[in-house]
Amino acid sequence: MSAAWAAVEQARRIVVKVGSSLIIAEDGAPDSAWLESLAADIHALRGGGRQVVVVSSGAVAIGRRALGRRGALRLDQKQAASAVGQARLIDAWARAFAPFGVTVGQALLTLDDTRRRRRYLNARATLNALLEEGVAPIVNENDTVATSEIRYGDNDRLAAHAAELVTAEALVILSDVDGLYAADPAAHPDAEFLAEVDDIDASIEAMAGGASKPDGDGAGGMATKVAAAKIARVAGCATVIAKGVASPLSRLKENARATLFRADGKPEAARKTWIRNLQGSGGEIRIDAGAVAALKSGASLLPVGVAAVDGGFQLGDVVVVRGPAGEAVAKGLASFDASDLRLMAGRSSEEVARILGYRRRDAVIDRDDLVLIG
Ligand code: GLU
Repeated sequence: MSAAWAAVEQARRIVVKVGSSLIIAEDGAPDSAWLESLAADIHALRGGGRQVVVVSSGAVAIGRRALGRRGALRLDQKQAASAVGQARLIDAWARAFAPFGVTVGQALLTLDDTRRRRRYLNARATLNALLEEGVAPIVNENDTVATSEIRYGDNDRLAAHAAELVTAEALVILSDVDGLYAADPAAHPDAEFLAEVDDIDASIEAMAGGASKPDGDGAGGMATKVAAAKIARVAGCATVIAKGVASPLSRLKENARATLFRADGKPEAARKTWIRNLQGSGGEIRIDAGAVAALKSGASLLPVGVAAVDGGFQLGDVVVVRGPAGEAVAKGLASFDASDLRLMAGRSSEEVARILGYRRRDAVIDRDDLVLIG
C-alpha cells in the first residue's frame, strides 16, 4: 500500500478537493460520469466509518460556459457566472451521489468564516452537524459575494482551511497533475518525482513554483497546492496531491502516482496548541465542583455547571474557567456571549432554551474548544 493511500485510509475525516478542470466535460457542462466515479469512491470511503467533506471548484467555469462568456471576465462578471454555475454544480453533485443514497449539502464559505473566531465556530458547528447527519457537505467559496479583499482566491487554500476547520486528518487534492516534481515535467521529462515530503521548506516551495502550469479554468497551480499542504501540515492534516482520473481514489488505492505531504502531529493536538496560544479576552467563568470533575474527565462545559460569569466577552472569545476556590482549571472558546451566559448559569439545557428563546448549542464551551490548565 502506498504511503499516500495509507494516510487517507487511516484518517477519520477527509477533505477531497476537486479542481475546475476535472468538473467540466467537453460540452462545458458538469462531467456527470466522472463525478459519479468519484462519488462511488467517496461512498466507499464513508463505508469505513470515515466522514468526507468535498471542496468543489467549477462554479465560474460552468457558469461562464452556460452564459456563453469567453475571454477575460471582470470580477463582477465572474461573480455573476459563479451564481449561475454554482446552482448547476451542486445539482451535478446531488445527482452524482444519488445512486449511493448519499444526500449532499451546499456550504459556501468566505474568508471570514475561517478567520474570525465567532464565524469559525459557527461554520465548524454547521459542518459537524452535516457530517453527523450523514450528509456529504460540498464546499465552495461564496464567489458571488466574496470580493477581492475578502477572498481565499483559490480553492486549494480554501480546502486546507476547511480541513483545519473540521480537524481532518487527510486532504486529497485532485487536479490535472499527479504530484510534485523536482522540476517542471513539461520542460524536464526526466525530472524526479517526489512521492513523500516530510517538511515543506524553501526548496520544496521552489519546486512548486515551476512544476505545473496553472489550471486553465481554476485559480490554482502547484504553488497554491503546496501552500495548501503547508497550511494543512501545521493543522495536523496530511495532504495528498493526485491526478483526477476516473475513480481517482480507487486508483490511489491501487498505487497510482501521488505525492504525500506528511502532517506535523495530529489535528486535535494542533487545535489544542492553537487554543493554548490564543490571547485571553479577560473574561472568566466560575464553575462548580461537579463541572470541574466533568471537564477533567474530558466533557464539555454545560450551563448547569456555571456558577458565575465575570467580564464581558463574545462568542468565540477566549475565556479562563475557574473552580470553586478560584483555581484556573481550563481555557477555551466561549460558545455564547457573556450576557447570554449570565442568564444561563446553573440552568438545564431545556431551561436555557426557554430563557433565550432559541436553542443554539448545549455546551458553554465545547470539549473540542477547551484545554485543561493547572
Ligand atoms: N471558487 C471557484 C469556482 O468555483 C474556483 C477557485 C479555484 O479554482 O481555485 O469557480
